Amino acid sequence: MKSVGRINGKTQLIGLLATPIGHSLSPSMHNMAFKKLGLNYAYLAFEVGNDSLEDAIKGLRALNVKGFNVSMPNKTKILPFLDELADSAKFSGAVNTVVNDNGVLVGHSTDGMGYIRNLKEHGVDITGKKMTLIGSGGAATPIAIQAALEGLEELTIFARHDEFYSKAVENVKIINEEMKHVSCKAKLYSLEDTDRLREEIKTSDILTNGTGVGMKPLEEFSIIEDISMLRPDLIVTDVVYMPMRSKLLEQAESIGCHTINGIGMMIWQGAMAFELWTGKEMPVEYIKEQMF
Ligand code: NAD
Repeated sequence: MKSVGRINGKTQLIGLLATPIGHSLSPSMHNMAFKKLGLNYAYLAFEVGNDSLEDAIKGLRALNVKGFNVSMPNKTKILPFLDELADSAKFSGAVNTVVNDNGVLVGHSTDGMGYIRNLKEHGVDITGKKMTLIGSGGAATPIAIQAALEGLEELTIFARHDEFYSKAVENVKIINEEMKHVSCKAKLYSLEDTDRLREEIKTSDILTNGTGVGMKPLEEFSIIEDISMLRPDLIVTDVVYMPMRSKLLEQAESIGCHTINGIGMMIWQGAMAFELWTGKEMPVEYIKEQMF
């Protein structure tokens, strides 16, 4: 008898554990890629929060799934339930991708990997470079850690004095003291110190907004108030992808900077996870054409 459709007795499950989940683009992106490459996997989203996370992981382990993603509010809460952490997850203290390696659940953080890979796709190599990064939350932290792991020479973080400031302190300490095998030197300043911000941007190759400033409801705002801090040979990147051109990127374009928005980071973090599970490259151009 012929099997009908894409699912059969050998289909391997990949899951996503998060809440709220209905808006997630990941199921469409991964299933489209599996279909395009003829890979026998299916990706399903499960509405799972902190309370049911441990049970969900036990279940996925028992089912011997190939892997899964986790998103908010589970990215940090998942750490105690995993067997091993890759450096990306260990140093950023968060996981967005789990790989079942013959029964061993290994946590990875592909957000920073996706950010760096997207820069490469835009012809930007961070090796030996200096970056000024604003923020220390869920998007900025993996960028800081992965940039240090992948050869950034100098990182200056600017952070607002809110509940994320202690994470900025921790990120700098981890890069300078715990990541023994990297040469990156990290520094932290208060975002309110605009003179220092100007000085650090002046000597940076890359300026990155790792905050939600520029995204709804802050779409009218830019993290840089004075555009004289920008110069044409500065590469300006933003984690924001809605709108595609944030106020910061509009300002930077008007100066003539090379600008890179957050959409590529979003697609490539998925592509990096796809590769970890399947060993195959996600057909990123095809996905972009179909979905964006
Ligand atoms: P978060 O809540 O974890 O962190 C927010 C960060 O922004 C903190 O460092 C906070 O101090 C800072 N911040 C917030 N408001 C600020 C303000 N008014 N001025 C200065 N700093 C401010 O959020 P997150 O998960 O890091 O998300 C931040 C942005 O990144 C959102 O726009 C989100 O959509 C985007 N994001 C993009 C990707 C991607 O793949 N491109 C991935 C994750 C998040």
